[in-house]
Amino acid sequence: MYSRPRTLDEAVHVLSRQGGQILSGGTDFFPALGDRPAPDRVVDISGLTEIKGISVETNCIRLGGLTTWSEVVAAPLPRCFDALKSAAREIGGIQIQNRGTIAGNLCNASPAADGVPPLLALDAEVELVSAAGRRRMPLADFIVGNRQTLRRPDEILASVMVPRGLDDARSAFLKLGARRYLVISIAMVAAVVKADNAGRVGQVRVAVGSCSVTAQRLTALERALAGAPARAGLGALASAEHLAQLSPIDDVRATAIYRSHAALTLVGRAIETCVGSS
Ligand SMILES: Cc1cc2nc3c(=O)[nH]c(=O)nc-3n(C[C@H](O)[C@H](O)[C@H](O)COP(=O)(O)OP(=O)(O)OC[C@H]3O[C@@H](n4cnc5c(N)ncnc54)[C@H](O)[C@@H]3O)c2cc1C
Repeated sequence: MYSRPRTLDEAVHVLSRQGGQILSGGTDFFPALGDRPAPDRVVDISGLTEIKGISVETNCIRLGGLTTWSEVVAAPLPRCFDALKSAAREIGGIQIQNRGTIAGNLCNASPAADGVPPLLALDAEVELVSAAGRRRMPLADFIVGNRQTLRRPDEILASVMVPRGLDDARSAFLKLGARRYLVISIAMVAAVVKADNAGRVGQVRVAVGSCSVTAQRLTALERALAGAPARAGLGALASAEHLAQLSPIDDVRATAIYRSHAALTLVGRAIETCVGSS
């Protein structure tokens, strides 16, 4: 059974009554089917305009779950979103960016999902809606494994909320793949750095994807960088020990050891980009 509700309320009631797999942009949904037929019950939420688009609120910037990557690129957003915009530009090609949504990327929960590290570095929270109500949780808690999240089957990821505290921080996203474009990440890094009035690192967040089952914030590195001069050379403070929590794997795209080296290089460069001149 295929249904295409027009409102969030209708959609969550369809899900609670009859269940079904959610279909949004379909750019993960359809490739994942392979040769199999579509599931018996599909709830196509692509018509839910109320959870599409970006709004600026007093305490947060709210990204509707149905917001596409093209919309992220085009939106006027504070500087701390530069990393998310860079990631958006690197998700597939333009056609994929026009269809693929933020919520689809997060709910699909691939270790190589490019949207995750920039949103982790922004301390994003997700809002899940069901017929029973709404709940919020940090993105860092939401994704728990390879294609595993805490989303219950009857819940729709309606919004991603980014707190306003770092609006004017600088941010960077770097992705390494086997070629420059249209590629699944071997490693990717997002960094956000805010300098204080004395020119030192006030707040810093660094997240790495594709190097463990779930993307990770490097909290030991963040602690080491706090208070250091926010100027060229900062990236050199990152060391292999700071990445020890990662558990990269050997696969068709790269060996674990290559991933570890690449991640450290990208971490250093991303931090450097946040404090370099421009
Ligand atoms: C050619 C190609 C290239 C790609 N390149 C990249 C890339 O470079 N980087 C990258 O990260 N990804 C890439 N992708 C993957 C994909 O485009 C993104 O993950 C995209 O953001 C998925 O969004 P979607 O709306 O299409 O999700 P869908 O395919 O509609 O859904 C994905 C999953 O999330 C669930 N879901 C979707 N929306 C919601 C919601 N609001 N609430 C709850 N569950 C939901 C669905 O049930 C499904 O399980 C690529 C895909 C293709 C086909």
